[in-house]
Amino acid sequence: MVFKIEGLGACREVGRSAFVVDAGDKILLDYGAKIEPERTTYPLPVKTNLNAIVISHAHLDHSGYLPHLFLTGNTLCYMTQPTLAIAEVLWKDALKIADIESKEIKYSKQEIEHTKTFTFLALYRRHLNITKHMSMEFYDAGHIIGSAMVKLMHKNKSLLYTGDFNPLPTRMLAGADTNLEADYVISESTYGTTNHPPREQTEKEFVDAINETLDKGGIALVPAFAVSRSQELIEILYSYKVNADVYLDGMGQKIFDITLAHSEYLKDPRTLKKAMQNCVFVQNERQRAKLLKNPCVVVSSAGMLAGGPALYYLKRMYNDPKSSVYLTGYQVEKTPGRQLIEKGTIGIKGEEVRVTADVRKFDFSAHADKNSMLACYKKWNPEKILLVHGDPQTMDPFAELIKQELGIETSTLEAGKAIKL
Ligand SMILES: [Zn+2]
Ligand SMILES: [Zn+2]
Repeated sequence: MVFKIEGLGACREVGRSAFVVDAGDKILLDYGAKIEPERTTYPLPVKTNLNAIVISHAHLDHSGYLPHLFLTGNTLCYMTQPTLAIAEVLWKDALKIADIESKEIKYSKQEIEHTKTFTFLALYRRHLNITKHMSMEFYDAGHIIGSAMVKLMHKNKSLLYTGDFNPLPTRMLAGADTNLEADYVISESTYGTTNHPPREQTEKEFVDAINETLDKGGIALVPAFAVSRSQELIEILYSYKVNADVYLDGMGQKIFDITLAHSEYLKDPRTLKKAMQNCVFVQNERQRAKLLKNPCVVVSSAGMLAGGPALYYLKRMYNDPKSSVYLTGYQVEKTPGRQLIEKGTIGIKGEEVRVTADVRKFDFSAHADKNSMLACYKKWNPEKILLVHGDPQTMDPFAELIKQELGIETSTLEAGKAIKL
C-alpha cells in the first residue's frame, strides 16, 4: 500500500468533493459544499491532522467549505491564482446569500482572510515538495479557468486526482494537459455513460438559434454559469459575429475581469478581450428595463435560473413567443431550469405558468465524456482507478466498461470509508 484514500464527500454523488490521501503524510484534496435548491450539505469532518490541502478549482462543490477549516486550522493550502481569486468571490457571495436567506454558514469574512493567508499559489507543471515525504504537480484540467489536476508523488509512486476535467478544447480554454503517466488515478465520472456532441456543432446550433430569435425581433435570454461559461458564450457570440447588442448581467462580470487578469490561462486572450469590449455590462434595473425594448442577447446568471438577474428578464419575456430562453449548462434536479426543460413552466409569485418563449438546452459541458475519459485512462495507464464525483447509475456501468475495455481495476468509494490503493 502506498496511498490510502478516505472519502469525505462526492463519493457516489456529485457535490461536496473532499478526500484525504494518507501516505504517512496526510493531504486533503478539495473541501466543497453540495448546494441544492432545498439545502446545502457539507463534507464529513476532517478527523486527522493534515499536512497539506490541495484545491483543484474554484467551483463551490470543490472549494466551498474550505474557509470553515480555518476557524482553527493553519494548514498550508495549494491552488492556482485564478482559483483563489474566483473562490474568494464565490465564498463572499455565499455569505451574502446566507445572510439574505437568514441561513447559517459556518465561516465568516475572517476565515476567508485566514484561508488566503495560508494559501500558496502554485503553477501548472511545477514540481513542489509540499510535505516532508510528498510532492505534487498541477496540470491544466481544462474545466474552468485555473482548474487543475493534481499528481501527488510518494517515494516512486504517483497518484493523479483529476478534479473536474475536460480534455477537449473549448472556445476559451485549451483543454486538459493530459500528457502524463500515473500509477493510480482518482477520477471524476460525471458523464461516464454519455458522449457530448462535437463542440463546434453545439456552438453553431446555439448561434443559429440566437439568430432565429433576433430575426423574429425577440430577446434571447441565455442563463449561464458565472464562472467560465458566461465568458465562453460571449466569446462565441463575438466569434460568430452575431449582429445584435450583447449584454452580460450578474456575477459573470466580476469573473470576466478576473479571467482577463489571468490571460496566460486562456487559449486566445486577445479575442476574449475584444469580445468583452463588444458586449455591454448591465449595471442597474433601469438599464435592464430599457434593453428589453429591442431585440438583443442577454447572457446572465444564474445558470439554472435559481436566482440572479436572469429571473428579472425571464419574468418579463417568458410569454413572448418571439423571444427565447437558451439554457447552456447542466440543470440540477428541482431547480427552476430543470422544471423549465422538463415541464415547460416556471414559478411566478407561487404560481406555475407556461412559458411560450422558445426554450432549448445546449450541451456546453465542461466535463470529460465517456470516450474522452477512456482515452485519457489508456494514455495514463494506471494500475488502478478510483471513480468519484458521479451518480451510482453512471459510475457502476462506467467502472465495468473501464475493466472490459482497458483491463484496469476500477472501483468506487463510500463516504466515510477508506480504500487502499
Ligand atoms: Zn467544477
Ligand atoms: Zn465538481
